[in-house]
Amino acid sequence: MSTLLIKNATVLVTMDDHQREIAEGGLFVRDGFIEQAGPTGELPLEADEVLDLRGHVLMPGLVNTHHHFYQTLTRAVPAAQDANLFNWLKTLYPIWARLTPEDIFISTQTALAELALSGCTTAADHLYLYPNGVRLDDEIAAAQEVGVRLQASRGSMSLGESKGGLPPDAVVDTEDKILADSQRLIQKYHDAKPGAWVQIVLAPCSPFSVSSELMKQSSKLAREYGVRLHTHLAETEDEEQFCLKKFGHRPVAYMQSVDWVGEDVWFAHAVYVNAEEVKTFAKHGCGVAHCPSSNMRLASGIAPVKEYVRAGVKVGLGVDGSASNDGSHMLGEARQAMLLARLKEGLSGFSLSDDPARKLMTAREALRLATRGGAAVLGRTDIGSLEAGKCADFFAINLNRLDYAGALHDPVAAVVFCHPVRADYNVIGGRFVVRARQLVTVDEGHLVEKHNRAAKRLMEGD
Ligand SMILES: [Zn+2]
Repeated sequence: MSTLLIKNATVLVTMDDHQREIAEGGLFVRDGFIEQAGPTGELPLEADEVLDLRGHVLMPGLVNTHHHFYQTLTRAVPAAQDANLFNWLKTLYPIWARLTPEDIFISTQTALAELALSGCTTAADHLYLYPNGVRLDDEIAAAQEVGVRLQASRGSMSLGESKGGLPPDAVVDTEDKILADSQRLIQKYHDAKPGAWVQIVLAPCSPFSVSSELMKQSSKLAREYGVRLHTHLAETEDEEQFCLKKFGHRPVAYMQSVDWVGEDVWFAHAVYVNAEEVKTFAKHGCGVAHCPSSNMRLASGIAPVKEYVRAGVKVGLGVDGSASNDGSHMLGEARQAMLLARLKEGLSGFSLSDDPARKLMTAREALRLATRGGAAVLGRTDIGSLEAGKCADFFAINLNRLDYAGALHDPVAAVVFCHPVRADYNVIGGRFVVRARQLVTVDEGHLVEKHNRAAKRLMEGD
């Protein structure tokens, strides 16, 4: 039994159903779960550890719904800097084919360290290349050391160039091997209980790198075990053309044809969807991981996020892989989501003076996507808000800093409107991962050194 008292936060943002923001707020935590959330005066006076957050804003941990951790090794690769999705992938596949188990371990720690410093407490990762003995186990072991909750997606590619797919044959696997490994991972790691640190997700990569048969077999296997399904969908116009030509369907109809709609499915991007397809997602409970930075970086397009929210589709935010972002900053992503949604309104030719009720996306709406939205997309009811019974996953930012100078009229909005900053504290399941702006569970300097060495070796190919 251990207890933690967090007190005197300038404002506690609960993200509960009433959107309560509590002045002089705090939390009382027991064994990794929140026992009480409210004004400091109503909380117990003592605990095994007490943290006074006077002058800080206290928020629920952010939930990242889409990433490829390994790509932190290939950020800003010169030949892939100015390409669209298909060309970017074709440039990077041969480099990624050299990944080793150690590369996966190091890059996972780098991505999670960045995420933790940006307020993230749960991350979904999508690992879809398994060259040179790489296993998802390498990523899980690395995440356990950092102490961030992980939705580890067993990705896969089976449709190589010789069968009409996009990736070279050297980076795809046989479908028997993929399914056997998927089952092994579920049996070994998947934890369905509240407070789970690791959950397994089955995640064939995309319509242009996986066969219809593997899509069907993956959904069958996932549903036998009650694990979730994830894939990239409707990311670019090229993909839409590929699906029409190869399957005779637009991407969403193709998903319906392979049993890939349901409340247990979430899609990354979902940019190219029409009004009917938005309704299909809402009707079946499919979720969307919105990745604004990546969609801008690769000139993919702008996802209809406000339309999704209005239709009742679950939407979370994802930083996407670090080769198309090129960072893992969840507050930065919330800011991008807010700004891009506003740009989309502007580009639609719509004028606010025509319809004042149709508001621009607010900072609080962006934060909600990054917390409750992400939790809903991942099917987790134990995270996303600071309320009794939920996981003690939260972060805090000291408001007395240059970045927020002049913005303290509304400290909660400042967190999104102002330049994204480092979290001062990040606590996951009651354990400190960041304290006083420093990582607690990994040595940052040593990690950067190892990471740069691995990235250099990967690029040079020896
Ligand atoms: Zn992705």
